[in-house]
Amino acid sequence: MATPRYRGRFAPSPTGPLHFGSLVSALASWLEAKAAHGDWLVRLEDLDPLREPPEATGQILHSLECHGLFPDEPVRFQSRRHDAYQQAIESLLNANKAYRCRCSRKQLRANHGYHPNHCRQQPIPPDKGPHAIRFALDDESAQWQDLLLGPQCQTVRAELDDPVILRKEGFYAYQLAVVVDDMDQGVTHVVRGSDLLDMTAQQQQIFRALGAEPPQWLHIPVIVNAQGQKLSKQSHAPALDDTRPIGNLVRALQALGQQPEPSLAHASVVEDVLHWAQAHWQRSALPLTSRQAHGITGGTLSPSDQ
Ligand code: GLU
Repeated sequence: MATPRYRGRFAPSPTGPLHFGSLVSALASWLEAKAAHGDWLVRLEDLDPLREPPEATGQILHSLECHGLFPDEPVRFQSRRHDAYQQAIESLLNANKAYRCRCSRKQLRANHGYHPNHCRQQPIPPDKGPHAIRFALDDESAQWQDLLLGPQCQTVRAELDDPVILRKEGFYAYQLAVVVDDMDQGVTHVVRGSDLLDMTAQQQQIFRALGAEPPQWLHIPVIVNAQGQKLSKQSHAPALDDTRPIGNLVRALQALGQQPEPSLAHASVVEDVLHWAQAHWQRSALPLTSRQAHGITGGTLSPSDQ
């Protein structure tokens, strides 16, 4: 069978504007897709209106444009895909791969934050009041190859709790939606931050339960600040400065272990930096850990970088 065309994606949750760490992920996934002569997609994972300031989506798309990162297909919004998630949930419920859960936060707390599992054993009828839906993980020792980190082994269930796929408040959860859309969009390769490494084995199970083979994964180290915390809204990472895209891209390339020519810092258009990056992209130069990627952290340039 012919190998399918490479399809990669960048899938931010619009909880705020892009920061330097998200630019690094976006650039890595763009470069991997371009190196494979494939397609690069952008998908807004806007599933939780309570955590998403309304302006964030526009800010993210504007930042990507300013940095010359244009998707090969129209941007997808998960907020418009509820029917597909509902269908997937119904098929998982019918196949006994998902179950209704009425546990309260208090009950979960009393069980050290873990799901006590009685609702998995004694199915609850749909009309029994508000409930979440959880995916029923199989006990397994999952083995898979990360394209950067090599062989991975994760003991599922012994380490994890059955993931919620529909929240009690009625919101579809990331774990389900990410898989349904990667399947629907024919994504063959996922490049993302290693903070999501632990999610991979359970997502692989959801792919298989929905009848699909999982894509390949490549997890890049997350970018950390001077205190060693992942750049994020919680760690108060500053928004990307969209007026300095060339400097941002050069620093992102450095964080990805590439060695951009010093003259690129004086390029007049972002396309010059992106062309150079595409022509010189070396996956083998990617750092394996955040510590190795450190020194190029967002917002806090060392004096020699300025
Ligand atoms: N939307 C997720 C996030 O922003 C990433 C999804 C993924 O790459 O699997 O953390």
